[in-house]
Amino acid sequence: MRIKLEIESNNSKTVDLEESDRGFSIGRNWGYAFATLVLSIAIALPQVSKWVESQQPIRLLQRLAKNTNKLTDSKSTTFPTTKGSPITSGFGWRIHPLTGERKFHYGIDFGASKGTPIYAFDAGLVEFAGWRGGYGKAVIINHGAGKSTLYGHASKLSVRKGEQVLPGQIIGKVGSTGMSTGPHLHFEVRLNNKPVNPRPYLQQHKLSSNYSPRMQAFLATIRWAETGTSGTQSYQKLVFNGTFDDFSTHPLIKQCASINGKRICSTAAGAYQMLDKSWRDLQPKLKLSDFSPESQDRMAIEYIRRNRAISDVESGNFTQAACKVGKIWASFPCNSYDQNPKKISELSRYYQKQLSLRAGG
Ligand SMILES: [Zn+2]
Repeated sequence: MRIKLEIESNNSKTVDLEESDRGFSIGRNWGYAFATLVLSIAIALPQVSKWVESQQPIRLLQRLAKNTNKLTDSKSTTFPTTKGSPITSGFGWRIHPLTGERKFHYGIDFGASKGTPIYAFDAGLVEFAGWRGGYGKAVIINHGAGKSTLYGHASKLSVRKGEQVLPGQIIGKVGSTGMSTGPHLHFEVRLNNKPVNPRPYLQQHKLSSNYSPRMQAFLATIRWAETGTSGTQSYQKLVFNGTFDDFSTHPLIKQCASINGKRICSTAAGAYQMLDKSWRDLQPKLKLSDFSPESQDRMAIEYIRRNRAISDVESGNFTQAACKVGKIWASFPCNSYDQNPKKISELSRYYQKQLSLRAGG
C-alpha cells in the first residue's frame, strides 16, 4: 500500500516516504551485503582476516551486530542536543506550523538557539550527511541492527558520510534549514527505516515538559522574573540567597532581608518562589510526591488556573495573562506588593524570545 506521507515538507515538495527513502535503503542494504560478503570471505581465508578486521567500519559493524535490539538497553546514549532543551513538537499528528495542515510528525523537535551543538545519540556510522529536502542539512547515523537516528535542520554539519562517530560526539550545529520556522533540532529514531516514537529511547534522559510552547514560554518568563534565570538552576533557588539540593520536599527555610526599607521574611523557594503555605495547600491536592522541577511547574500552572489565566496563556494573550497572575508573583505587574516588579514590556520581550525558541517547525 502506498500512502502519501509528508516529512517536514510543504505542499509543493510533498515527499513519498517509500519513494524518497528507497534509494537510501538500497544503498544501505548493499553496504550490509558487501560487509557480510567481506566477513564471509575473511572467515574462509584466515590470512585476509587480519586485514579485514583492521578496517574500522567492518569492526564497527561486528561490534554493532552484537548489540541487542533495544536501544534503551544502552546506557551510553547521549541526549541529542543541550540537556533540558524544550520539546516544541512531539511524535504524532499535528498541525504543521508552516502549511497549517494536519500532518504526521515523525520525530521530536527540540527548541534551541542557532549554533547549539547536536550530539550523536549513540555510536554508529554516518550513513548520510548533507542536504535532505525538507529536513535541510541533516545527518543520519546507522547504529546497526536496523536502527538509525536522523538529525534535521542543522545550520552546520561537522561529520561526513562513512565516518564513525561515538556517543556524544558533536555532529553539527542547530539551525533552521529546510522546512522550518525557527532554530530547532528535529530528531528521529528509525527501526528498519521506519520512524518510531523517539520518546522511549530518550527515557534515560530527562525530557522537558509536554506543555504547549506558549505555556512553556510563560513559565520560563515567571522563572526569569522571580529568580533571574529560567534555566534549570532556577528550580533550586532560595528566596534571598543560596540554593537547595534536596527536592524531596519544599525546603521550608525562612530567610529575611530588607526591601525598600522594610524587613521582609519569606519561605519562598524554587523557580516560582513558592511559599511553605503553597506547598502545604497544593502538595496533597495535586498529589505531589516531591518538590522536583516537574512538581514546581505543576504548582505554577495550578496558580495560573486559579487566576483564570490558562486560556489567556494558551491563546497568546500575554499582557492579560501576566496581569492576572500579578497577584501571585510579585515580580509581575498589576499588584501592590511594591517589590520592584518588572515592566510588562520587559516581561513581554523575554516571553517572545522564549516563545521563538520553542515555536520551531
Ligand atoms: Zn520536526
